[in-house]
Amino acid sequence: MIMQNLVGILNRHGFKASYFEAPEAALDYLKAEISGVTVGMGGSMTIKELGLYEVLGENNTIHWHWQDAAPDTLAQAMLADVYISSANAVSMAGEIVNIDATGNRVASLAYGPNRKKVFYVVGTNKIVENLEQAIFRAKNTAAPLNAKRLDRKTPCAVKGDHCYKCNSPERICRTTSIVTRPPASCEAHVVIINGDYGY
Ligand code: SF4
Repeated sequence: MIMQNLVGILNRHGFKASYFEAPEAALDYLKAEISGVTVGMGGSMTIKELGLYEVLGENNTIHWHWQDAAPDTLAQAMLADVYISSANAVSMAGEIVNIDATGNRVASLAYGPNRKKVFYVVGTNKIVENLEQAIFRAKNTAAPLNAKRLDRKTPCAVKGDHCYKCNSPERICRTTSIVTRPPASCEAHVVIINGDYGY
């Protein structure tokens, strides 16, 4: 019921939101929505855990820098028809928060010259009550764990426990995006999956 409330709010805001109890059903939805196109992927443990690169690679051309270190992979992802990422947090008011270091993810979710659709794939572990909690989660859960995973020389990476408001050269928190409506230029799907995915 709570997730249906969030789906309803997101849909009223113009997103195409859906909730799935099981990851298999979410993957079927994504395969039906994304076929025969070019796909860019943001850095995302959720994408990795769900095997989206492999699943969607069957019928699409994927550009993902976690799989392809070619110098133009990020640019090709920005130019893709479809872009997929997760979110660091989603509020029950329908606000989607992401913190980015390079900026490719937040930029590509907001705009791409050929973009037809973007997809946020989000586990219920990322859902919080309000915007303040969403920013707090992005800053004190997602960012430290990502810094730890990336072995950054930041104070939060030691334990991955919370933000220390660093000014490290290796700080990963460089842009914070709060998405409140789909981009004017394309569809935005929010695919919520019951369970813990990513950070
Ligand atoms: S600002 Fe620095 S300490 Fe805080 S989460 Fe970001 S990288 Fe870690």
